[in-house]
Amino acid sequence: MSSAEVKTTTCYMCACRCGIRVHLRDGAVRYIDGNPEHPLNQGVICAKGASGIMKQISPARLTRPLRRRAGAERGAGDFEPISWDEAFALLEERLAKIRASDPRKFALFTGRDQMQALTGLFARQFGTPNYAAHGGFCSVNMAAGMIYTIGGSFWEFGGPDLERAKLFVMIGTAEDHHSNPLKIAISKFKRGGGRFLSINPVRTGYSAIADEWVPIRPGTDGALLLALAGEIVAQGLYDRPFVARYTNGGQLVITDEASPRYGLLATCGDSDPVDRHHPQNQLWWDRHSNRPVVTHTPGADPYLFGDFRLADGTRVKPAFQLLADRLRPCTPEWAEKITGVPAANIRRLAHEIGVTARDEKIELPIAWTDCWGEEHQTVTGNPVAFHAMRGLAAHSNGFHSVRTLAILMSLLGTIDRPGGFRHRAPFPRAIPPSAKTPTGPDGVRPNTPLAGLALGWPGSPEDLFVDAEGEAVRIDKAFSWEYPLSVHGLMHTVIRNAWRGDPYPLDTLMIFMANMAWNSTMNTVEVRRMLAERDAGGEHKIPFLIVCDAFQSEMTAFADLVLPDTTYLERHDVMSMLDRPISEFDGPVDAVRIPVLPPLGECKPFQEVLIELASRLKLPAFVDGDGARRYRDYPDFILRHETEPGSGIGFLAGWRGANGDQSMRGEPNPRQWEKYAANNCVYKHELPPSYSYMRNWNRGYMQWAQRVRMRRWGEPVLIHLYSEVLQRFRLAAQDRWPGRRPPARFKQRVETYFDPLPFYYAPLEVQATDPGEYPLAAITQRPMAMYHSWDSQNAWLRQIHAHNYLFVNPRTARASGVEDGAWLWVESPWGRVRCMGRHSEAVEPGTVWTWNAIGKQPGAWGLAADANEARKGFLLNHLISDTLPGGTSNSDPVTGQAGWYDVRVRIYPAEERGVWPEFTELGKVPA
Ligand code: SF4
Repeated sequence: MSSAEVKTTTCYMCACRCGIRVHLRDGAVRYIDGNPEHPLNQGVICAKGASGIMKQISPARLTRPLRRRAGAERGAGDFEPISWDEAFALLEERLAKIRASDPRKFALFTGRDQMQALTGLFARQFGTPNYAAHGGFCSVNMAAGMIYTIGGSFWEFGGPDLERAKLFVMIGTAEDHHSNPLKIAISKFKRGGGRFLSINPVRTGYSAIADEWVPIRPGTDGALLLALAGEIVAQGLYDRPFVARYTNGGQLVITDEASPRYGLLATCGDSDPVDRHHPQNQLWWDRHSNRPVVTHTPGADPYLFGDFRLADGTRVKPAFQLLADRLRPCTPEWAEKITGVPAANIRRLAHEIGVTARDEKIELPIAWTDCWGEEHQTVTGNPVAFHAMRGLAAHSNGFHSVRTLAILMSLLGTIDRPGGFRHRAPFPRAIPPSAKTPTGPDGVRPNTPLAGLALGWPGSPEDLFVDAEGEAVRIDKAFSWEYPLSVHGLMHTVIRNAWRGDPYPLDTLMIFMANMAWNSTMNTVEVRRMLAERDAGGEHKIPFLIVCDAFQSEMTAFADLVLPDTTYLERHDVMSMLDRPISEFDGPVDAVRIPVLPPLGECKPFQEVLIELASRLKLPAFVDGDGARRYRDYPDFILRHETEPGSGIGFLAGWRGANGDQSMRGEPNPRQWEKYAANNCVYKHELPPSYSYMRNWNRGYMQWAQRVRMRRWGEPVLIHLYSEVLQRFRLAAQDRWPGRRPPARFKQRVETYFDPLPFYYAPLEVQATDPGEYPLAAITQRPMAMYHSWDSQNAWLRQIHAHNYLFVNPRTARASGVEDGAWLWVESPWGRVRCMGRHSEAVEPGTVWTWNAIGKQPGAWGLAADANEARKGFLLNHLISDTLPGGTSNSDPVTGQAGWYDVRVRIYPAEERGVWPEFTELGKVPA
């Protein structure tokens, strides 16, 4: 007799982490549907989520540890199976030697995984500074530009409150970013009569159902946002009370050029000794008493405009005055020339946004107290909500574009208020957050954990991770003067830097879930050559490559050792508050995965690999005092690990304490996994309404957040319209900072881009390209039915997309002689690709675009060598350079974000058919 059962877990067919029900019969998956009791997706499931069943039985599954066959070349994918015992013995011996001699020589870089709290802990305990996930390639500008301005960002960290918004403005967002939750919210928003504007060069996905599409040239969003902000200020449509009390707009900036503190905020007395990055002693010029007072002095109200002198004669201006001065020349006419959006439209949009925010106020009967002790009887809001993502971020000018968006949202008074942007726990964070890396090479020592985190948030030059000469300590040069605020690292520079030996060669590079030989890299052909290249002695330039993944890919083909990961249905996993939880606006939420199937073949979850390696290497957090292994396995680690002994803070926030009756904080609970299993694999901590809004400045929330250790300090998080953090770096570049200063070759770069006020500049690659030769912008986005490169191995999903086209506006196509459906060349200064084109009215005339990662190397991802993905699909990354003329990385000079949406191209008809460049066929892996 057959048996049927239903198990709940959390989807991982994309990064949204919806709750799912897996329906099994006789132990095999029959189908997967959405879990109606899950707070995130409320039963909704997308095509990807339902297709998880085919991931399970994909022919691309790796099922055994593999070693590159002796004599086989890297890239050929020629392997022999080995046992896990052999694999661990090999890894233990190699990694122990590196750790005992020079831990920098081991680097761990990961893709869109959801376990960075664990991978980061492993790297720190190992002692290497060379660790990061994929954020530098993805959207670090979105995180950094927002967090350095408002203390939070979009996606897991916060989002648009569409339940109460009247106007929704979406900018540069892919077809399905933040997929099911946002689809549910937009659907309700539109049914409720909300108006939806989409600013994007391409009108697909979400943009296709917008009430108005505002086409814009890629990489110019910053100019549009400056013009919108300028109009809002010029027309007096900004929320003055909000700006005065909750931003640093009223704070006085020293404007005496001769002063050593030029551009810093005027203060009374010494800085707060508790937290040097967040002193609370700045000044306002009070309108009532017409004199300087400490900010938020009861009864005071700051001038936002003016030019004043302090008692000692120092000239000061309110930060808002400086911002208004900066915005004044950014007129709609100025922006039209850059963006292609007509000036009249910009004026109309600014008016609509500003008037909606001003005239449709929301008032909720929720009493709360702010950090300065003032009691408020209601929570009010201005119902204009924004959402933005990679289209805004993945440019070498993206940091300032994103910062401008955060400033526009703040001028409108929409931060953590109903109908606007709302934070998700553990945000808001301090500006900048308190996590820091070591500050010099001494932080890296043999057989010793790293003296700080591998990734942090610099607040001044003293926080950079550089040596005495100001040169980088990390292999990717993150937190150096080249990219000072590279808070997510620079995954896209690792292979070239290691290949160059700049700043030093690596010994072992471990890659988890990142296709760095294909779509998770720029300049693909060159990067693949670097991965395979040997030095004069016959050694590979990167001596040992470990790749851990569930599927055979272009990247696994280059590995010396392949470790077969499980799928999400076969393992334990946590979506932790220490990492990237799934919090809601009204409270922290974390979730787990619990296996519904046993691992296929010899697959082993990467988490188990890390726990095993950490135990064998005796990394201090993973062993007891006598060196004995502390954790049986990953689930045991999750149950018992605390951030510090006795802290009561672990990876999971729900059902803590010996009896499981505590939340957020409490001693380990041996039955915690059972509680999650019995509760749809999710835990939600509901905050009282009085803690759910205005959290940057909400005393009750701050005290609670400190109690549960989500905040280190309880100071209010004032919005940085003016960034003193950036000014500190600029002063260093001008030799006016009392501490560290950049090497001479970076001075001009830092001085230019560390402007404390937002500004627009053309992306660096665009500045270096002749627009007459290469007049078109070329961009990608991931399709709705596939998550990056993950799904070409999925038999159901590849029926939706098995090849891609270059989409071209008909006007542009006709001017170039390119027929609809015909083969064409698309060429950048760095290379060319032959592909098929389609005419599309849904793209602005100066842009061509395609889906990312549909094209595959023949034989990759378990596909037949003549599959459409290889014969007709193409990869635009071949056209994108990872470096700029002069050899620096093609990255944002503030954050190191890869500028992979900045390439300029031309198109022309192709005589021949078939995709080019061509790649050799990959061999089948033993499975
Ligand atoms: S949106 Fe993402 S997480 Fe949710 S069901 Fe679809 S693939 Fe799964």
